[in-house]
Amino acid sequence: MKHALPVTREADFAAWYQSVIAEADLAEESGVRGCMVIRPWGYGIWERIQRLLDDRIKATGHENCYFPLFIPLSYFEKEAEHVDGFAKEMAVVTHHRLVPDGKGGLMPDPAAKLEEPLVVRPTSETVIGTAFSRWVQSWRDLPVLINQWANVVRWEMRTRMFLRTAEFLWQEGHTAHASAEEARAETLKMLEVYREFAETCLAMHVVTGEKPENERFPGAVATYSIEAMMQDGKALQAGTSHFLGTNFASAQNIRFQNASGELELANTTSWGVSTRMIGGVIMVHGDDDGLCVPPRIAPWQVVIVPMLRDQPEDQAIVDYCRDLQKELAALSALGEPVRALLDLKPAKAATKRWGWVKKGAPIVIEVGGRDVAGGNVSVIRRDRLYREDGKLDSRVMPRGALVDTAAALLAEIQSGLLARSTEALRAQIVPLDNWAAVEAHFAEGVTNPGWVDVRWSRPTGAELEAVVERIKALKLTIRNAPLGQTGCDDGPCVFTGAPAVERVLIGRAY
Ligand code: AMP
Repeated sequence: MKHALPVTREADFAAWYQSVIAEADLAEESGVRGCMVIRPWGYGIWERIQRLLDDRIKATGHENCYFPLFIPLSYFEKEAEHVDGFAKEMAVVTHHRLVPDGKGGLMPDPAAKLEEPLVVRPTSETVIGTAFSRWVQSWRDLPVLINQWANVVRWEMRTRMFLRTAEFLWQEGHTAHASAEEARAETLKMLEVYREFAETCLAMHVVTGEKPENERFPGAVATYSIEAMMQDGKALQAGTSHFLGTNFASAQNIRFQNASGELELANTTSWGVSTRMIGGVIMVHGDDDGLCVPPRIAPWQVVIVPMLRDQPEDQAIVDYCRDLQKELAALSALGEPVRALLDLKPAKAATKRWGWVKKGAPIVIEVGGRDVAGGNVSVIRRDRLYREDGKLDSRVMPRGALVDTAAALLAEIQSGLLARSTEALRAQIVPLDNWAAVEAHFAEGVTNPGWVDVRWSRPTGAELEAVVERIKALKLTIRNAPLGQTGCDDGPCVFTGAPAVERVLIGRAY
């Protein structure tokens, strides 16, 4: 079978990933390493993600606001661990004017040096914490529950489009609470919002859990993540939620008078997801014909392609398609009006069809003269492109039947994609009992090993470092310790031999 992409997943997964991004018109290189141009189809998916997640963030009581892009360096210096963690990837503005350099170019004006360097925000705990210290005086001011949609810059050395970029788009939630219990509950509540969002909207099954100490956000007391399984068996950390305790509150001086008049430090949280999720959608749902966008986040859910031939009958086809587009747009699917596009671009119908297949539009409808005459349409489902015999599965059906079933079909595609992702995740996690088995599982030459699920004793300090070194030699990381475990007394830790306290997932990751 010949596929629409120049390279298959099996032949070269990394090259396949890049080719989906190019062929689906999602994004392209910009000329600045690690910074990408997000094209309309890619940005349209991001806008859908924003809208659906924003609704959930607001439904849980948070309000949006906006903080500056530039953060004084001294704000970071107040939290030692935080600045340590981010120092190696911070972009810094030091001047505010350029002057001729005498060689025909420009250079920063030494007379225009800033008194204090400004960091291009890599994350906003420090600046938002500073505002919290002004906003919070009494227990009556708590909790503070805010969110910001913004771009951030982290000067990553190894970048890959969407997954790890130097500039990325995200939302960052920041909250302050009167007690540690309340802040911990908030951290887990937002983790659950991410899980539900990933599964309901991205059709991407994820595992929620706590990150080990060595993978914590710099300055956090506890970091939780949602981890997704890519088709090549690698993990993608698709979102994180951090319990920050009083670490940032003491650095940023977020104090409040409690009900008995004593001064207390607030407990804070932060949580974020980014454009990385689009990379996850590509690697969970994509195939050798391109992207397959879950209907909830598809900018266009149904695309109508008229098969025009520069003949007088073309007008009747276009009219028929316009009516069909209106009928579809009047429907409601998955709780929203159906997003139906009539593609009238001047290109060959076959080129347009494959263009939409590569972009991953959930349903593509083709209409030719014969369809108009018979009152029919030809329907392609992106999630089931081929028949058993390997031929393109384009089904002719009465137009009325399509309109009657389109909403149900979109819902079926959405739930089918989630079911597939759930099955893939479960099938690619193997429970193992001892270190030798782990080594064998990830031995060189084993393709697609997925993740392993092992018992461990939650070592800390030097003992944890030794464990991290051992797994690093196999290019592995601990993804998380899944939530909802009920004890772990059926054997020792696979690393230390000490009594195990929980199970952790280990795998290769993006
Ligand atoms: P953090 O503030 O480090 O917890 O990051 C929040 C989320 O942003 C992470 O869980 C990732 O999903 C995402 N993220 C972190 N770094 C990058 C990056 N360089 N490019 C894209 N997304 C990122």
